[in-house]
Amino acid sequence: MNMIKTEKLTFEYIRRDEEGNVEGITRAVDQVDLDVEKGDFIAILGHNGSGKSTLAKHMNAIFFPTEGTIYVGGMDTGDESHIWDIRKTAGMVFQNPDNQIIGQVVEEDVGFGPENMGIPTKEIWERVEESLKAVGMYAYRKHSPNKLSGGQKQRVSIAGVLAMHPECIVLDEPTAMLDPQGRKEVIRAVRALNEVENITIILITHYMEEVVMADKVFVMDKGSIKMQGSPKEIFSQVDKLKELRLTVPQVTLLAEECRKAGMPFSKGILTIDEFMEELQCLLS
Ligand code: ADP
Ligand code: MG
Repeated sequence: MNMIKTEKLTFEYIRRDEEGNVEGITRAVDQVDLDVEKGDFIAILGHNGSGKSTLAKHMNAIFFPTEGTIYVGGMDTGDESHIWDIRKTAGMVFQNPDNQIIGQVVEEDVGFGPENMGIPTKEIWERVEESLKAVGMYAYRKHSPNKLSGGQKQRVSIAGVLAMHPECIVLDEPTAMLDPQGRKEVIRAVRALNEVENITIILITHYMEEVVMADKVFVMDKGSIKMQGSPKEIFSQVDKLKELRLTVPQVTLLAEECRKAGMPFSKGILTIDEFMEELQCLLS
């Protein structure tokens, strides 16, 4: 079943002057057709300004299409009676964890979402416990969020979303403000939610290394989807990725250069392990 489906989704930002006259229109999302199946791990890549955040905000009924349609869990976001169910179905995690954490204590913060949903107290605590365990932050439940590292804070915000029991989590550049260690922690936690809890994941990022484990990758540019396929299929097209101003991982570039020089490396090498394995075969 489709978790998220868009049909010719288009969104325009309209700029107006003080009198309310239209000054300009930016088409941030342009005729996007997207299918995300339940349980999928999807990555959306794209240069700054390519329309990723605007698209993401449609998945949580924060924005509504100028044209076209988006269905979340089969519900049309244009139908107002579904807004709360849609927001419960698809949780959002943003770039800056400091703007998402409001509690003074980690466990309180994670409990806010279910509390607002009117969940009984006993169940809130069960949800807080399971959510913190799922992101590996249970040991910090009594800590103050202020004292945590960026990666830990971001995992607490993910736990906060998880505690609302969404079927799908949309993460808009959740690692952009983190150091490499924090980035790894967050990606590992997100991956576990997909593999262990079977939560549909939509990960928006411009770090290509983070999309390696995705089932499917979409690449956006100027509001539309320019490429889609498995990570291997996407990473095989180094020249196209460069054209779309994406930073291709060094190991992928190196393998591509070796290939061009006549060494039989396969296309779309994504990790150092893969590169070493092929190199060893070539040398033996
Ligand atoms: P991304 O998340 O890929 O960086 P965005 O969705 O933020 O892209 O932006 C897509 C386009 O929409 C860009 O051209 C951006 O300048 C424009 N845009 C984004 N937010 C606004 C806004 N609030 N008002 C007007 N234009 C905007
Ligand atoms: Mg963005």
